[in-house]
Amino acid sequence: MKKYNFSAGPACLPDPVLEAASLSARQFSITGMSILEVSHRSKEVVDLFKEASDRFRSLLDIPKNYHILWLQGGASTQFSMVPLNILPDNGIADFIETGSWSTKAIDECNKLGCAKIIGSSKEKGFTFIPKTVIQNEDSEYLHITSNNTIYGTQYKKFPEAKNKNNIIVADMSSDILSRPFEISKFGIIYAGAQKNIGPAGVTVVIVKDDLLNLNLRDMPTMMNYQVHVEKESMFNTPPVFSVFVVNETLKWLEKIGGLEMMNKINKSKAEKLYNEIESNPLFISPVMNEDRSLMNVPFVFSDEYEIKDSDFLEFCAKRGLMTLKGHRSVGGFRASIYNAMPESGVDMLIEAMRDFKKNI
Ligand SMILES: *Cc1c(COP(=O)(O)O)cnc(C)c1O
Repeated sequence: MKKYNFSAGPACLPDPVLEAASLSARQFSITGMSILEVSHRSKEVVDLFKEASDRFRSLLDIPKNYHILWLQGGASTQFSMVPLNILPDNGIADFIETGSWSTKAIDECNKLGCAKIIGSSKEKGFTFIPKTVIQNEDSEYLHITSNNTIYGTQYKKFPEAKNKNNIIVADMSSDILSRPFEISKFGIIYAGAQKNIGPAGVTVVIVKDDLLNLNLRDMPTMMNYQVHVEKESMFNTPPVFSVFVVNETLKWLEKIGGLEMMNKINKSKAEKLYNEIESNPLFISPVMNEDRSLMNVPFVFSDEYEIKDSDFLEFCAKRGLMTLKGHRSVGGFRASIYNAMPESGVDMLIEAMRDFKKNI
């Protein structure tokens, strides 16, 4: 039986990508060796990194004055790396607090400067995105989380930056490559790969060139964007296998028709699922309508029913619908329907929701 993995991350990958990944573990390119053992100094791997960057740039239409970096340490390392590189000692950065990931970014920023929370939906359980916020003119940048993986909210329209240099920094870990958007609004964008673009182990960072070399402080070499730009993401041993898998995912995205097409498919999948949540009396969505994420869809049993969550989870597992348990801070269920989740998986989930309702 085919299993559909609704996990929030590490998340499902397209079948052809998994196929290519498994073949490469035996033999990579013309090297005759496994991708797991080839040197990052070999021509094949250098070419692979260039190819992945070129595809990524072209899919997202990234202007020439932005660099693409393939780093390690996850999105969590970027919580510190961003302020280390662009926030002066005692400098101010504005934050919109939309979930646990943004809270973590705020905590790290406060170790180096001053994070000002200019909007927060914490009091309301992070069920919406605060939109009327007043930015500080003397702040260095505005930090947002484009999609909140745990709470299932997503920016439909990005704010305009109104700070010193008009810079927005975005954590796009769970929705990058799900839709087209204008890069030039941003100073830095970062994303751990394991949600929407590949396996854990690589984090993509897009950084505008005028944010490099600010020389704000002495910092560990590995934390310095400039070093990674100069060394083309190969200052130390890079995660070659992870980048290989990302490159395969990018090829798959190109075949689908790029980000316009991907966005259309994502909208169609999410709309179906939200319609079912709305029309099925058993379930409700805790998230405010206009901010509902196309990527992570949390839902809970309506109060009228006294059913254990585990009953529905077991019901789904028998049909091959896996990892639907909600995050511990929300409860209930969460269907992560990233790019790689086929429409058939969403259809099967909807059918399971209907059949489960019939049986009670
Ligand atoms: C998963 C996630 C993170 C953390 O990513 P790591 O790569 O595990 O450090 C940060 N931000 C968002 C929005 C996420 O979904």
